[in-house]
Amino acid sequence: MVSKRIVLTFPHNMVDKPIVYKLVKDYDLVFNILQAKITPKEEGLLVLELTGTKEHYVEGIKYIKSLGVKMQPLSQDVTRDDARCTHCGACVTVCPTSALYIDKKTMKVIFDSEKCIACELCVRACPPRAMVVKF
Ligand code: SF4
Ligand code: SF4
Repeated sequence: MVSKRIVLTFPHNMVDKPIVYKLVKDYDLVFNILQAKITPKEEGLLVLELTGTKEHYVEGIKYIKSLGVKMQPLSQDVTRDDARCTHCGACVTVCPTSALYIDKKTMKVIFDSEKCIACELCVRACPPRAMVVKF
């Protein structure tokens, strides 16, 4: 048996597709939804824990990829290089989990790594490249 946490990102026209249902029915995988969000760009974002036999897991992932859904494992970590951060706030609007938010008192951008699902949206949005993917 394997149990893995993955992040799925898919375009808004696929948000209502029964992807998870198919994973259960056709691939015999057990799922646990850890996060489900619509991003500011109206993409669907789903963080799932999938459990099943290795064979079923691999087949299920193949199915997800065949739909054109972007998938990444949640084993990687996103961190912030505080020395580079200018607190411009560009990352706050793209973060789907509010792991990046503005402290109203100090007007500084806070990074709460506990809430981060490593979707990498902030990495692309950050002008000085302060948000970094660590493998
Ligand atoms: S986008 Fe980058 S520089 Fe701007 S607040 Fe976020 S982490 Fe800091
Ligand atoms: S990777 Fe960035 S945008 Fe994604 S959840 Fe973590 S802090 Fe938010």
